[in-house]
Amino acid sequence: MVRAPGWSGLCEVCQRWGSGRLCNDCVARFAAPATRCARCGLRTGLALGRCGECLRDPPPFQATCCAVDYGFPWDGVIARFKFRGQVELADALAGLMLGQPAGGPQAPELQPALLPMPLAPRRLAERGYNQAWELARRLGRARCQPARADVLERVLDTPAQAELGRAGRQRNLRAAFMVAPAQRDWLQGRDVCLVDDVMTTGASAREAASCLLRAGAARVDVWVLARTPALAPDH
Ligand SMILES: [Zn+2]
Ligand SMILES: [Zn+2]
Repeated sequence: MVRAPGWSGLCEVCQRWGSGRLCNDCVARFAAPATRCARCGLRTGLALGRCGECLRDPPPFQATCCAVDYGFPWDGVIARFKFRGQVELADALAGLMLGQPAGGPQAPELQPALLPMPLAPRRLAERGYNQAWELARRLGRARCQPARADVLERVLDTPAQAELGRAGRQRNLRAAFMVAPAQRDWLQGRDVCLVDDVMTTGASAREAASCLLRAGAARVDVWVLARTPALAPDH
């Protein structure tokens, strides 16, 4: 069976046929725009610029744009995209980040170069693709922005973040990233935007952003598909 990309097929959420991988109804229902902290993307009840956490301890990145909260039904869709090899879902998920179909989240105003959050080499070998790069290159193509997977690298094979609590995540990440020596000149004074599928505590984004700033980037923003709602402190 041949499917016209981006149009036919079952909706990943409601399983209805013929209105695209993510139908307009599901996007309107499950990806409605939300009031979020401009700095970290956390949902805030009020129209505040920043959440309390970002006022107390501002992250090294300046702005975060996210399309949806990590939870039903996006957790299931992202799991199929990331862990079950359904890499073609990147088209629909990047569309969601770009504000398509209309009725969902707004596309962000970010204009810097897009850098995918790197995967550890061993995990990349197991999975065969980096889901963040699959998103970033589609976003770059749609927005005519450069997307580069050769700038930020992961140097340690750290335990999966999902298995660790918050304190463990931060420890686990220390020295996990580096800027490729051949790309340091390119990075000097540049505004860049990290792209990832999910931001959980933000620990990875903090470490990656710090690494880029130390290596010469002028500003780092973050663009993620899904943001985990506020977690209980250190679990
Ligand atoms: Zn649907
Ligand atoms: Zn915040």
